[in-house]
Amino acid sequence: MTLARASSLDLIGNTPLVLLKGPSEAAGCEIYGKCEFANPGASVKDRAALWIVRDAEKSGALQPGGTIVEGTAGNTGIGLALVANALGYKTIIVMPETQSREKMDTLRALGAELVLVPAAPFSNPGHFVHTSRRLAEETEGAVWANQFDNIANRRAHIESTAPEIWEQLEGRIDGFTCAAGTGGTIAGTGLGLKAFDENITIALTDPHGAALYNFYAHGELKAEGNSVAEGIGQGRITANLDGAPIDTQFRISDEEGLEWVRRLLSEEGLALGLSSGINVAGAVALGRKLVAEGRANPRVATILCDTGFRYLSTLYNRAWLESKGLPVFPWLS
Ligand code: PMP
Repeated sequence: MTLARASSLDLIGNTPLVLLKGPSEAAGCEIYGKCEFANPGASVKDRAALWIVRDAEKSGALQPGGTIVEGTAGNTGIGLALVANALGYKTIIVMPETQSREKMDTLRALGAELVLVPAAPFSNPGHFVHTSRRLAEETEGAVWANQFDNIANRRAHIESTAPEIWEQLEGRIDGFTCAAGTGGTIAGTGLGLKAFDENITIALTDPHGAALYNFYAHGELKAEGNSVAEGIGQGRITANLDGAPIDTQFRISDEEGLEWVRRLLSEEGLALGLSSGINVAGAVALGRKLVAEGRANPRVATILCDTGFRYLSTLYNRAWLESKGLPVFPWLS
């Protein structure tokens, strides 16, 4: 039993770590999932939101009653809106209009001002990240959270996610893997775990359509294919990714990720988003690799990034899955 928390912000982090049965059987070793859907905003991004806001307060950039502006696929905005409400700030969230309906409704419900922009490549000035930077510059008393290149993001994982995993596994962990959006989770957790034990293998799990697999494998930022996964898939080395201790890398398709989303829900009662399924597929690949390399009973941890309830109109919707040419969970009518 944990003691009562002193404030709502203390509910961020200290999430459970759970042994995943199916993935462990598939890998032939122990695979653990960090339950980030148990954060108040139901995703891993609550941690980055809290660290970014605290950092802006410390630097003096964010003053009482100020506004936090961010471009986000959704989860960071949800985390920022909750943290801002708890500390008396306003939030303006810029989001591509291709993200799930649930994320938009959630942001509006939390009181964030939502600005939707058409999906555009990063080189386009209308891209949601550039739009959010401009809005922050134009708004009085506003700071730009800048989650991609603000390393307060990865510090959240160096200082919280990594030590939590290390303690929860009592210092017996052989590998860690997850996918990158901003790269804060993989870089921060990787750096934090390596500080405990540099022999822990850190693997990047990349979805199709992202450029990092080729970068870490061949030194070239090159994307191939595409993915419907929200929140992951990066095409550049963000400041958060710079210096990430990546030892090896895997590329995982949406079909493989979805198969784990299906199995984790129907066999283990975990309702997750697609980035979690892709992470679990990567963890199984990493577990198999460590077993093949002769490590005795390796243990691998990954991130269960957000709740599946955020994707009822997409991943858990027959018509949507069919429209994307993806396999449909058999129980969906
Ligand atoms: N999964 C989901 C659902 C996300 O929203 C994000 C954040 N963009 C990630 C994974 C990746 O986390 P990070 O930004 O730390 O790389």
